[in-house]
Amino acid sequence: MEKVISVCPYCGSGCKLNLLVENGKIVGAEGADGVTNQGELCLKGYYGWDFLNDTKLLTPRLRHPMIRRRRGGEFERVSWDEAVAFVAGKLGEIKREHGPDAIMFTGSSRGTGNESNYIAQKFARAVIGTNNIDCCARVCHGPSVSGLMATLGNGAMSNSICEIEDTDCILVFGYNAADSHPIVARRILKAKQKGAKIIVCDPRYIETARVADLHLQLKNGSNMALVNAFAHVLISEGLYKADFVAEHAEGFEEYKAAVAKYTPEYAAEITGLPAELIRQAIRLYAAAPSATILWGMGVTQWGQAVDVVKGLSSLATLTGNLGRPHVGVGPVRGQNNVQGACDMGALPNTLPGYYDVSDAEARARFAEAWGVDSLPAEKGCSITEVAHRIEAGSLKAYYIFGEDPLQTEPDLGMMRRAFEKLDLIVVQDIFMTKTAMAADVILPATSWGEHENVFSSADRGFQRCYKAIAPPADVKDDWEIYSLIATAMGYPMHYDNAQQIWDELRGLCHLYTGASYDKMAGLGYVQWPCPSEDHPGTPWLYEGRRFDTPSGKARLFAAEWRPPLETVDAEYPLGLCTVREVGHYSCRSMTGNCAALQTLADEPGFVQIHPEDAKQYGIADQSLVWVASRRGKVITRANHNPRVNAGAVYMTYQWWIGACNELTVDHLDPISKTPELKYCTVRLEPI
Ligand code: SF4
Repeated sequence: MEKVISVCPYCGSGCKLNLLVENGKIVGAEGADGVTNQGELCLKGYYGWDFLNDTKLLTPRLRHPMIRRRRGGEFERVSWDEAVAFVAGKLGEIKREHGPDAIMFTGSSRGTGNESNYIAQKFARAVIGTNNIDCCARVCHGPSVSGLMATLGNGAMSNSICEIEDTDCILVFGYNAADSHPIVARRILKAKQKGAKIIVCDPRYIETARVADLHLQLKNGSNMALVNAFAHVLISEGLYKADFVAEHAEGFEEYKAAVAKYTPEYAAEITGLPAELIRQAIRLYAAAPSATILWGMGVTQWGQAVDVVKGLSSLATLTGNLGRPHVGVGPVRGQNNVQGACDMGALPNTLPGYYDVSDAEARARFAEAWGVDSLPAEKGCSITEVAHRIEAGSLKAYYIFGEDPLQTEPDLGMMRRAFEKLDLIVVQDIFMTKTAMAADVILPATSWGEHENVFSSADRGFQRCYKAIAPPADVKDDWEIYSLIATAMGYPMHYDNAQQIWDELRGLCHLYTGASYDKMAGLGYVQWPCPSEDHPGTPWLYEGRRFDTPSGKARLFAAEWRPPLETVDAEYPLGLCTVREVGHYSCRSMTGNCAALQTLADEPGFVQIHPEDAKQYGIADQSLVWVASRRGKVITRANHNPRVNAGAVYMTYQWWIGACNELTVDHLDPISKTPELKYCTVRLEPI
């Protein structure tokens, strides 16, 4: 039996594992001694390889290129030559007729490597001439990138996952680690065992709340008020590090004025928390010799998410918890390579390495390397703006790479209506997802385990995955598919392997220059910035308290609290919050095809409701119910759960039946364009 080193494709923890291979089939997985996991895995890591053996698939694997010549018709199997010529011809036609910005692309964070994301955005920018490329960061940690870029000059986790267990205090804000990053949850538990104080701010009594010293069960949609109140207490009680702020921060006076009215008593009215509990929590954080803040979608999937991220960053600045080990700010990325898709420039506003598209010098350098006269300077379209641009007639084609927007975007009815108006839908994926079923062309790609690539973990760590098994005969690597279409469109593109692509991109990005394949060989782990061959990588940012802002100082920021878009009323009396379940990943196309993981959750979805609410609305436990919002109605099973807060209900977005995105609202944060997936109003109807 052969052991092939890989990285789990199911969350940003970046757990290193060995795939156990026998006779060309994967027969198991075991934890490897990676930097973030040190031999441990969660269930998805142990059992999430099964779909590669293609045994008990619920969703068909895409095995051949296919074209559907008319909407509603059957897919027709075609050769690669025909599929490539068809896509190249259609894209060329649309570009000529409507301009390059009539075409939209996605990057992919779902088990797809950095090399293919780099090529996807190169195709969009150099071949088509548009910055219309985006990835799932838009619906998850886009606000973290925007907020942290504005306050600290860098959009990623400041410190490392492995440092978490040695910190003295962890402020867990809107982050259900046990379901989304089980290995990070274990680090939090280990920190607790070593004596750390744990503060959980979450409307639900999540797993981490069980071990917390304090649980602040705030009302859904009140994050900004609580963060402002924390700042108010730090300043009014003199708990902040005045020397650090004076030397390394800017904007203190405006910040102090902005939080002045957010006394704990004032915030208590908005958050529903006792004022004294707010004081206790932030005093605990401020008193710790080292403290870190971890957050997730409970912070980012709101209409005011960027403001809250800036506010959390400001708490770390106020208390001097930056620029050294075991402290910092930690947006823990969800999909396994969403950090990588961003690192590679699969974003509408940045080139690979986070050079802004408005940076003329960077554009010129990339254009020269890519052999084109110029690159577009205008920020492109976000994936959450796609439906509106289609409706406005400015988007005509959508090339979707490893994403499933007809399952994962808010207000699916709106998305479906928009998709019908597109002239061309291309889906490049491994499974017949909901979006693939709506495509005009399907381009089947290799999967994780079938190719070599680099992933980025949530803490900026580059790691290599090795090829474990051969792919099905008629599928191709993602980067090869783009290369073929580019060449057919008159832009010759050829690479022999992923390493050639990696070497090209690291040569263009000072953050990654020293992160060579050799350095990442085996269990190697290189955290960017890694600016030269002899640089070991950077476990924690801002050494010397020098921030990556223009002034070199951290910016303090507070904003007025704004309520969610929708308000409960007699017709829709409950707030719906979307969550995820531990056994499944993203839209389930991968984990839903793994026998062991299917058994963890084998029925479509659920809606969690507090028993008191259930009693009030006549909803029996385990009964089937309709959940209705202003946009749609889905059927699912009610689950009485005293761990959720009264007035709110919770559903996962991962199932085709009971798809909660039929209900969610397309309300976006004005800066990051991230949707308010954590709140819309609904009612439950017994069946
Ligand atoms: Fe590790 Fe995340 Fe994979 Fe679990 S799902 S093994 S925590 S990378």
